[in-house]
Amino acid sequence: MEAQASLIEAADPVTAAIGIFLHILPNDLARYVLGAGGVFLLVNVLFAGRLAGRKIRPSSPKAEQMKREVVISLRTTLIFTLSGVATVLAAKAGWLATYYVIAERGWAYFAFTLAVLIVAHDAWFYWTHRLIHHPRLFRRVHRTHHKSHNPSPWTAYSFDVAEAAINAAYLPLILFLMPTSVQAIILFLLHMILRNAIGHCGYELFPSRRDGRPLFDWMTTVTHHDLHHAQAGWNYGLYFTWWDRLMGTEHPLYHEKYAQAVRKPLDGSAVAALGQQMSSARA
Ligand SMILES: [Zn+2]
Ligand SMILES: [Zn+2]
Repeated sequence: MEAQASLIEAADPVTAAIGIFLHILPNDLARYVLGAGGVFLLVNVLFAGRLAGRKIRPSSPKAEQMKREVVISLRTTLIFTLSGVATVLAAKAGWLATYYVIAERGWAYFAFTLAVLIVAHDAWFYWTHRLIHHPRLFRRVHRTHHKSHNPSPWTAYSFDVAEAAINAAYLPLILFLMPTSVQAIILFLLHMILRNAIGHCGYELFPSRRDGRPLFDWMTTVTHHDLHHAQAGWNYGLYFTWWDRLMGTEHPLYHEKYAQAVRKPLDGSAVAALGQQMSSARA
């Protein structure tokens, strides 16, 4: 650790960059392995039996697919680390106003920046995600992620190089615009990997109301993103349902599929209306 710290402080920028790289890589690796692996172990292995009544599809992803996802995700981790190195170098050069002592700007500002990091990331993800679904970009930029037709928590970082770079660009960009504490960045990253891995786990973990609707309907549920993998063209959002609703890209049968996943019947008239919407959407 001491050797790494002296590397990071080195005046020579290349030596400093290597020190920063060696410092960030284990953190980024741990985030993926513990985040995706933790969700997989808990949801898809240990509690899979108890959660059987919340399984979204009858089939499960094959080991072969998950192996591919892990290998590709390690490449993504490397790209995230390179972006991290650039971010730390930019902060050292005084281009970013990141800080360590929360009290410097207060807890209210800390909470505000954390909320902005998450809400702005959702917007960044929604719009870049719609962009990379464009037929001219999809094959080169986003096909790898959709090879996982039935995703697993390991799908979380299964990105083409360009898609990984688009995702890696978000943090340095927002930090350039907003002075942010290191602790807020860490919480943002933890929330990101957990929501990402959970969104791909194949079991509906989000609480439902008695009428079969999501309790927090403004949040994307597991069914929400699972439907994106089953039928691309709908549900581009990451954390929240706002953008999909505003832009009319939420799957017309989303609430029905969610109700099915939590084994609760949606109100019959709502199902009929959704069915009608769906057939007119297909026509
Ligand atoms: Zn997609
Ligand atoms: Zn996905």
